[in-house]
Amino acid sequence: MCIFCKIVNNEIPNNTVLENDEFLCFHDINPAAKIHVLIIPKKHYDSFDVIEPELMSNMTKFIHEVASKLGVRESGYRIITNIGDHGGQEVHHLHIHLLAGEYVGRLVGAKK
Ligand code: AMP
Repeated sequence: MCIFCKIVNNEIPNNTVLENDEFLCFHDINPAAKIHVLIIPKKHYDSFDVIEPELMSNMTKFIHEVASKLGVRESGYRIITNIGDHGGQEVHHLHIHLLAGEYVGRLVGAKK
């Protein structure tokens, strides 16, 4: 079972921000910004690349709820999902990074 499935099953602890029947949001263990949380579907999908488009509809609503709860909708935030080797994906369970709390608009690792 993957590490995020273990988090969903409460086999590994997490610092939960928000959850519902379908999704879970928790703080990233190694934050890259003042606010860095991960949003995952509770059901396992390897990455964004294999999901049905309909999943993103409910996931978008949930991300908006997370951003509201974190109080960052006005100040702004950045969402990222890494896919596969060249995308830099380390955990192979679909997750959206939400970064906020300071300026996070730069493209990390971008070549000029
Ligand atoms: P990615 O490189 O997009 O696959 O990102 C994986 C993210 O998961 C990284 O930012 C890690 O810091 C984070 N991470 C890994 N294990 C945990 C964990 N047990 N709890 C919270 N975040 C984690």
